[in-house]
Amino acid sequence: MSIPIRRAAVIGAGVMGSGIAAHLANAGIEVLLMDIVPPNLSDAERATAAARNRFSVSGLERAVASRPAAFFSKDRARLVKIGNVEDDLEKLRDRDLVIEAIIEQIQPKRSLFERLERTVSPDCVVASNTSGLRIADMMAGRSESFRRRFLVMHFFNPVRYMKLLELVAGPDTSPDVLERVRAFGENALGKGIVVGRDTPNFVGNRIGVHGMLATIHLMLSEGLAPEDVDAITGEPMGHPKSASFRTADLVGIDTLVHVAENCLDSLPNDEDRQVFEIPAFIRTMIERKLLGDKAKGGFYRKGRDGAIETFDPTSLEYRARGGDKEIRSVCKKLGEVEDVGARLRELVFGSQAGSRAGAFAWKVLSRTLAYSARRVGEIADDVVSIDDAMKWGYNWELGPFETWDALGFEAAVARMKTDGLVLPPSIERMRAAGATSFYSATGEVFDLLRGESRRRAADPRTASLTVLRRGPSPVLKNDGAEAWDLGDGVLGLTFKTKANSIDPDVIELIASSVDRAERDFRALVVANRGEHFCVGANLFLVAIAAGQQQWQELRSMVSGFQRSCQRMKYARVPVVAAPYGMALGGGLEVCLGASSVQAAAETYAGLVEVGVGLVPAGGGVMNLLWRALAGIPEGAHVDAYAIVTQVFKNIALARVATSAEEGMRFGYLGPETGVTFDRARLLVDAKARAIGLAESGWHPPAPRAYVLPGESGMSTLAMMIRALVDAGQASPHDATIATRLAEVLCGGVGGSAREVTEDEMLELEREAFVSLCGEPKTQERMQFMLMNNKPLRN
Ligand code: NAD
Repeated sequence: MSIPIRRAAVIGAGVMGSGIAAHLANAGIEVLLMDIVPPNLSDAERATAAARNRFSVSGLERAVASRPAAFFSKDRARLVKIGNVEDDLEKLRDRDLVIEAIIEQIQPKRSLFERLERTVSPDCVVASNTSGLRIADMMAGRSESFRRRFLVMHFFNPVRYMKLLELVAGPDTSPDVLERVRAFGENALGKGIVVGRDTPNFVGNRIGVHGMLATIHLMLSEGLAPEDVDAITGEPMGHPKSASFRTADLVGIDTLVHVAENCLDSLPNDEDRQVFEIPAFIRTMIERKLLGDKAKGGFYRKGRDGAIETFDPTSLEYRARGGDKEIRSVCKKLGEVEDVGARLRELVFGSQAGSRAGAFAWKVLSRTLAYSARRVGEIADDVVSIDDAMKWGYNWELGPFETWDALGFEAAVARMKTDGLVLPPSIERMRAAGATSFYSATGEVFDLLRGESRRRAADPRTASLTVLRRGPSPVLKNDGAEAWDLGDGVLGLTFKTKANSIDPDVIELIASSVDRAERDFRALVVANRGEHFCVGANLFLVAIAAGQQQWQELRSMVSGFQRSCQRMKYARVPVVAAPYGMALGGGLEVCLGASSVQAAAETYAGLVEVGVGLVPAGGGVMNLLWRALAGIPEGAHVDAYAIVTQVFKNIALARVATSAEEGMRFGYLGPETGVTFDRARLLVDAKARAIGLAESGWHPPAPRAYVLPGESGMSTLAMMIRALVDAGQASPHDATIATRLAEVLCGGVGGSAREVTEDEMLELEREAFVSLCGEPKTQERMQFMLMNNKPLRN
């Protein structure tokens, strides 16, 4: 076990420093965030702490206000204290870790490290978040003892959301320090660690910026428009939708240029050095301060009429968005191919091989693959590190070597050779050794440096369902879901519908999985795969039934879902739901029904049914209210109305939590929810939670019933609803939906006269749901959502 890191400091409260401080606070670390004392203070200001700390205060404020949010919840900001490097350096004495994130210049960094050497404790690790400065340069003049506990911790922006953390050790960095920081980065911060070598721009940015500039040079030589390039280099190539130029606008064109120039200056022997040369049109953009989203425009901007305009590399002016129609339509179709390998093959070697899109994609990809291969041994030790860096730092679906495998190793090598691309000798050695791919299906990876395959040490903490499941086939299965034996007495249910939506098959398998788990297992885990945990009920089925006025079918569909959720709640074995990404509507109702939840930190939960003109009816309204009421100690005289109102607002406004932690604040997830920072570990954590519950005396709960506000609550909420309509903040149909929701939450007529039981609550939910399905405006909302994937306000 390494020495824990409890207290940290971040120096430099800019974009990166404030983001790093926020994420440390997310991990429960106490942080001191420092910056310089602003120059040009008046004499009076120089005497006040408020003015002297102005930079760090505004850094913290920026992090609090940032969107997407840097903090999991606003409480987290309380863990960040502020200070400045003139008055507060002494406070660094009790820190276990100090991260430097100041201006990217060698002199200020050197002098800061000199001061830190005199201040921090002998066990304190000091790290730099530099993007590209050499460790040897930064450490000039430092003692050996300082150099032993110094390393680069290179975070990616935005820190909370980007999984990649590159660690780079210097020649003197102690292996223990590297391990200590690796464990901290993985376990406390949930990061994916790539250990790079001390070379300019390290791993991700070296490959990423090379690829970006190679793409831009090729665009100019091939006569393509930026829009064409973005159509090709996004989803069709397995890269994010923001592709090349929208990504550059997001990151900042100055940052891109800065990284490229650093490569150009410090890599005199790079065989592809000319790729890092900045094209003249980008220089013009920099001169005109067209730096991207943070400025008034970048490669794209919003024109006066709100339409997107493109910076034309030839005329050097903005023009209306254009691009080649054929390229666009080919790429759109390809983007729909679900399997990324199939998509890439189709683009490069399949039906599109001869098209402009296919030819361009190949040129870009082949250059990146060859360049990456030539970098193994220079920037990182192996292909896995480069693949991980590109997946975690650039959100590529596949890293370069995985892409190469997906295209077919031999076929790609042959075509690269025909094109005259230079491949390193290691690739020839690999062929001579008989390898036909970098990764094998049996868990081996080809080590290009040693010229042989080696076993890839699999991390048991990130085992996927495919790894954990036992036996050749699922224990239970239908068209919508499967349940697998996960070993250790745990059954794992996983949805298989599109976007994991809930349909009658899923509903049936929830119930039968509970039955089976009670009989043959000691716990059940609901663990889905794909981008999101579950986006709610299958709206298509609801809309069809509503359109055909099949009220009885709708009622039985809803009561089936209610029964399944209640089955989970009262199961004789613990049921653990493992949400991540979006857990909306029915997806959250599954979590509300489960005995316990192990959520990914990045879980966005909410009951958003009003967006499609409905109210939750899988027990969601009841369970959310019950959870809120359960917090009131027995005998306390608390007005249930205040609590009902809050639950009402959360559902009526379709409030979605921006993290698992916020989900807990909103009451969507219980106070004892387990939170997994690295989503790759979610299944293993959920299984451990299920076993933990099974082994610690878990018993099913008893049904509860509450006295609710009844008619008086309904009329008070009705006044609130009316005021919102009068103020133009809600439409009359919003009011109809909200009124039905209020009826459920207040326990219906007579809700205050007696304790309202769960069966009664479920009936109220059901009737509200079915009656809203009969409203033409609700049907319009459902249709609109199905067509446009966004809510209609009518
Ligand atoms: P920034 O300009 O937003 O912030 C730098 C902050 O450091 C400013 O608040 C400045 O007042 C402060 N500062 C300057 N000199 C200081 C000193 N001597 N002592 C204390 N504070 C000082 O820059 P940034 O984008 O946050 O980058 C910070 C570091 O992180 C740089 O080394 C950069 O290369 C690296 N980095 C940036 C990114 C990115 O995407 N922006 C990503 C990874 C790493």
